[in-house]
Amino acid sequence: ADLLPLDSLVVNTAFLKVQGIDREELRKQRLSQTLPVPKNSSTVREALGDTFESLCEQQPIGRKLFQQFLLASDPQCAATAEFLEELNSWSFAADETREKVKRSILDKFCQPQSKSYLSYLTGQDADRRRTSPDMNFNDVMMEQMREATRDFLKGKPFSDYLSSPFFYRFLQWKEFERQKISDKYFYMFRTLGKGGFGEVCAVQVKHTGHMYACKKLDKRRLKVKRGEKLALLEKQILEKVNSLFVVNLAYAYDNKTHLCLVMDLMNGGDLRFHIYELGRRGICMERVVYYTAQIITGILHLHSMDIVYRDMKPENVLIDGKGHCRLSDFGLALELPKGKMICQKAGTTGYMAPEILRQEYYRTSVDWWALGCSIYEMVAARLPFIDLREKVQHEEVTRRTLEDECRFEHKHFDAPTRDIVSRFLKKKVERRLGCRSGGGDPRNHAFFSDINFHHLEAGLVPAPWVPKADIVYAKDVEEVRDASEVQQVELDAKDERFFAEFSTGAVPIRWQKEMIDSGVFDELNGRGSGAVLQSSMCG
Ligand code: ADP
Ligand code: MG
Ligand code: MG
Repeated sequence: ADLLPLDSLVVNTAFLKVQGIDREELRKQRLSQTLPVPKNSSTVREALGDTFESLCEQQPIGRKLFQQFLLASDPQCAATAEFLEELNSWSFAADETREKVKRSILDKFCQPQSKSYLSYLTGQDADRRRTSPDMNFNDVMMEQMREATRDFLKGKPFSDYLSSPFFYRFLQWKEFERQKISDKYFYMFRTLGKGGFGEVCAVQVKHTGHMYACKKLDKRRLKVKRGEKLALLEKQILEKVNSLFVVNLAYAYDNKTHLCLVMDLMNGGDLRFHIYELGRRGICMERVVYYTAQIITGILHLHSMDIVYRDMKPENVLIDGKGHCRLSDFGLALELPKGKMICQKAGTTGYMAPEILRQEYYRTSVDWWALGCSIYEMVAARLPFIDLREKVQHEEVTRRTLEDECRFEHKHFDAPTRDIVSRFLKKKVERRLGCRSGGGDPRNHAFFSDINFHHLEAGLVPAPWVPKADIVYAKDVEEVRDASEVQQVELDAKDERFFAEFSTGAVPIRWQKEMIDSGVFDELNGRGSGAVLQSSMCG
């Protein structure tokens, strides 16, 4: 019964094969490529308008070039660059080695006789250091030193950087980043899933070999269903978030028929698929705890930006090649107005919180309710208020959600799981876990006693389950093919303006990361530096 139809086999093989790509071959194809010269002064001005944080810390290529600049300038700057690197490895060091790493940092940078002594760390910090010869610094002091270092760098080093060849290099990369993106930029592979406005398929960037998922939104269907505003909102939210636990956007572009969102490829399938489609129903407890911890980290990231997700459910949580999961599908997400509540029915039946169903005002509480439903579903392979395969009216689900108590009949519910689910499923917002007075931070719950959130947030906790490299974790292509008819509707100038607003091309942080990870940065950065670089310095 499990024999795949031939065309599925073909597309699956192509899709799996391309992921084991030959990087050397790609490198040869790139040999003639060089960085463009920044054409117009607007790129320059745009970049100059940016802050130190954006230019030297957040943008990956900017960060690298600033670091290279520091290493190439005076010894004090070089020592600073080294110091920041080592400080980073200290913050994520395993508990056993943390103390050792800290001591070596202090020896190297805080001793006046050391070659790498950071002399700007004078004043208060230095005084305190002298009075504590055993160097029993605490973490707060390390952070203070980081701050002092940033203050130092924001001054003369930063202004020197802006007139250096390294910054000119950065502008060249920014010019490259601004290239127009079209279908030609990618190879297309099999469809992975179907959404409300079109298919999601696997794509590969031709010149880097990087794999992404491309969510296509049919322009005409968007217009007919008045989905344009929502599509733009989804794009703007995706572009804004930058988290290991949220699917990140790399490119937004359009072609004749579709708007395209190119994002992290999650080739391990969605959690719904893992609960229901892989033989055994439900997911084992170790994985449930791990996924829930990552989901919570993602949700907290969104909430910290005043974004409410509103579509928390296993189907929207996707697993990547390493077995980590991320939130996806921001079609219902909303940036909350500061300090205000909203009242708007949105969500999926079975996951909607009582306050939504009662049409009351709410903020982020609804995501914690939906998370409770999702944990329940991962364990029991059914929803708290809808039985497996039960056909039930919305009204009845609403009634049960508002009136019934959740029951835990499934044998896999242990005490901490029952407790955390019950706390997320409190009908009163003020008593719900995650909400302001509902018992504090969900991360402190006994359910997570085996999780080190500090390491998890840095992506350092290996997944309990990793997808196999020779399996495609998606339904058959036939099942996910988008077979609906193309709508007959005229697109006018207003639509075109909207499409242009959507199609902003590469998203800087993602794109720069792709250049670095694929080796293209190192390759092009070392090329043709000399004469060209000196003579075309920006004035
Ligand atoms: P919609 O908003 O229309 O529901 P989704 O964003 O949920 O569309 O995408 C539809 C389906 O496509 C998902 O259920 C999933 O199976 C697949 N999919 C979406 N994004 C990705 C991705 N980044 N990687 C792999 N598959 C994806
Ligand atoms: Mg979806
Ligand atoms: Mg959606």
